Amino acid sequence: MTTDSPSSRSSRHVPVVVVGAGPAGLTVGNILRAASVDCVVLEAESREFIERRTRAGVIEEWAVHALQRRGLADNLSARAERHSSCEFRFGGERYRFSYTELTGRHHWVYPQPLLVTDLVREYVDVRGGDARFSVRDVDLHDLDTARPFVTYTCPETAEQQVLTCDFVVGADGPRGAARAALPPGHARIARHDYGTGWLALLAEAPPSGDCVLFGVHPNGFAGHMARSPEVTRFYLQCPPGDDPENWSHDRVWSELRLRLEAADAPPLVEGPLIEKRVLDLHDYVVEPMTYGRLFLAGDSAHLVAPIAAKGMNLALHDAFLLGDALVAYLDGGDGSGLDGYSEACLRRVWDYQEFSQWLSEVYHGTAAGDPFRAGTTFARLRRLFTSPAAAAAFAEQYLGAAERY
Ligand SMILES: Cc1cc2nc3c(=O)[nH]c(=O)nc-3n(C[C@H](O)[C@H](O)[C@H](O)COP(=O)(O)OP(=O)(O)OC[C@H]3O[C@@H](n4cnc5c(N)ncnc54)[C@H](O)[C@@H]3O)c2cc1C
Repeated sequence: MTTDSPSSRSSRHVPVVVVGAGPAGLTVGNILRAASVDCVVLEAESREFIERRTRAGVIEEWAVHALQRRGLADNLSARAERHSSCEFRFGGERYRFSYTELTGRHHWVYPQPLLVTDLVREYVDVRGGDARFSVRDVDLHDLDTARPFVTYTCPETAEQQVLTCDFVVGADGPRGAARAALPPGHARIARHDYGTGWLALLAEAPPSGDCVLFGVHPNGFAGHMARSPEVTRFYLQCPPGDDPENWSHDRVWSELRLRLEAADAPPLVEGPLIEKRVLDLHDYVVEPMTYGRLFLAGDSAHLVAPIAAKGMNLALHDAFLLGDALVAYLDGGDGSGLDGYSEACLRRVWDYQEFSQWLSEVYHGTAAGDPFRAGTTFARLRRLFTSPAAAAAFAEQYLGAAERY
């Protein structure tokens, strides 16, 4: 959007404005601060709120290593659990899939609020970064010029503030201001709806097994993912748009028991449900992820339904590339990273989207009420446990471990 020049109002200049303090925005901010590049992070919520917001928990090994290399993973390395297998349950049986045996790689379980807390602390308290929380009315202007600016309302004074900058990082998630600032017709937005919902649950209950569990059942999918020794995430497939209130405590636990039932499986550990919401599963991808001086990162550029636990990993991948590219340009005038940013991100994004779509059929195919889809779903599942080549391919995609994207 183009508005009055900021020169008519009091404004401050900073090389980079980052909109959004999620995993993507905070990682970019930390990379910039480590290189002594000034930036301001604008966040619509309070610091306390973002440090408590529950979402993801699974981080891929390449992302952990990339965080470690940037000095952003001290707590994660000390506290995260390393997983080496997952378990499918179907037809009343358990099928353990040991991906570490096949690849040597792990999944790391570290709840998103802990990662966000670490990243905020490092950015603000250790690296002296400027973050403004609870801001309102964030708006992006003159993005197709060399001197864009961002306006927002300060929560304390209710006055409008202006930040002029060289670059804007749009890391404000699916409903933020950055994607909305793209002019009509500039980007292609590809969207996919799965036509199904997931009831996303957090239970105050220790995990009921030592790995992620996937229940593939004619009633629908059920998932079990450890978050901490005290809290476990569960998913139950449900109709899209379903009301969480349709799912009483008793109904939730009886469906979880049914869909995750298997011979010799230990009983589920039950507990109070502390989160219960319905996600209508969908994906989108914005191409290109850039417009003038605006660079989108994370969920603002691409949403991937939590089917394969990929969203935060993609957000981190964007942030590593973008942070490094901004430093290379602002420090040494090398613009190649910025020029190739969108394409480099999108190769991994599309790969993960395709895998999520493939896995969606595995999870949901048997509950579609179509015997043909049920037959092909079971064929996919059996192949993972009978064909070493299929197992190796699955493990690589599940862990995001391909050599090249
Ligand atoms: C139930 C669930 C489970 C998930 N599990 C996994 C998993 O196991 N593994 C995985 O990889 N991913 C998972 N994901 C996805 C993951 O949570 C997201 O992909 C990740 O949060 C994206 O990070 P981000 O920084 O791009 O966006 P966000 O985390 O959404 O951060 C964006 C920030 O911008 C702020 N903001 C919004 N609008 C504005 C504005 N106008 N101005 C300023 N600030 C603004 C928001 O408050 C927020 O703090 C899951 C998601 C859900 C919902």
